[in-house]
Amino acid sequence: MNEAIRYSIIIPVYNEEAVIHETHRRLTQVMESLAEPYELLFVNDGSQDRTEEIITELKEADPHVKLLDFSRNFGHQIAITAGMDHALGDAIVIIDADLQDPPELIPQMIEKWKEGYEVVYAKRSKRKGETLFKKWTAALFYRTLRALTEVNIPLDTGDFRLIDRKVAEAMKGIREKNRFVRGLVSWVGFRQTAIEYVRDERFAGETKYPLKKMLRFSMDGITSFSYKPLKLATYLGFFISFARFLYLLVSLGERLFTTSTVAGWTSLIACVLLLNGVILIILGILGEYVGRIYDETKNRPLYILRNRPNVEQREQQEVK
Ligand code: UDP
Ligand code: MG
Repeated sequence: MNEAIRYSIIIPVYNEEAVIHETHRRLTQVMESLAEPYELLFVNDGSQDRTEEIITELKEADPHVKLLDFSRNFGHQIAITAGMDHALGDAIVIIDADLQDPPELIPQMIEKWKEGYEVVYAKRSKRKGETLFKKWTAALFYRTLRALTEVNIPLDTGDFRLIDRKVAEAMKGIREKNRFVRGLVSWVGFRQTAIEYVRDERFAGETKYPLKKMLRFSMDGITSFSYKPLKLATYLGFFISFARFLYLLVSLGERLFTTSTVAGWTSLIACVLLLNGVILIILGILGEYVGRIYDETKNRPLYILRNRPNVEQREQQEVK
């Protein structure tokens, strides 16, 4: 019944009651102009506002609308993953609900896809209406990530992208819990290309990524693609130990050949404090990885749906 669907649009939503109608309108306008079967797959990530009601209303009026409803807030990256698991189209577009990613770019992405690219990601050449703090931390994050990881994760690129069915199938095999989806999409490979765009302001409402979520998100990005922080901890440990060894020689010399040993008190305290600080940092870095290992070993499902969705999972296709 569903094999005709050509394009799937995945829209993760968390407390987005203020934007859904407009998002639906803009997406519909763009998708209708393409004149091919499509679905608008909303993933409700445990919203506490009227998000779910609004989508259910839309669904009744528009058969293109589908809803996956999480039993609680599992997070943006998991919502995207659930969308990919359930999308039926040959090409799948992931887009934010707040219209910061203009839907009008989708036809351009589809054109690239028809040229044979399997991943078309949208690179932000500019970000409008976001605080300096957000812009700077984002810029810093993408650059740190690039410096630390071996996987070639494109700079200044969010999750707004088109992926081919084959990529979605490949992603189904990756079930790690602390997911950094855009990194995983780079990791699975395939023919990838970029288009540039200016990131708009949020249409309405507030950001659903407070500082806490942003920090967690960037830690996931870095730890799931790099062991360098662990290595750094080791190097730092060695370096400090070496410096301390030298200092020990100096103090020994002082003790043996001079009479001014009491003066060492201040530096002793300084050393102890410094070392404790370094040990805490190293323990913290270890903890980040150990915690993630723990998450993986628990082997819980990535998400839980409130009820059976009105979407069927397309049969597993061979990943070519
Ligand atoms: N989102 C989500 N779950 C969350 C947080 C955000 O599904 O826990 C969705 C949100 O509804 C939006 C997208 O992820 O569609 C991006 O969030 P937002 O626009 O708030 O992030 P920002 O653009 O400020 O980084
Ligand atoms: Mg946004």
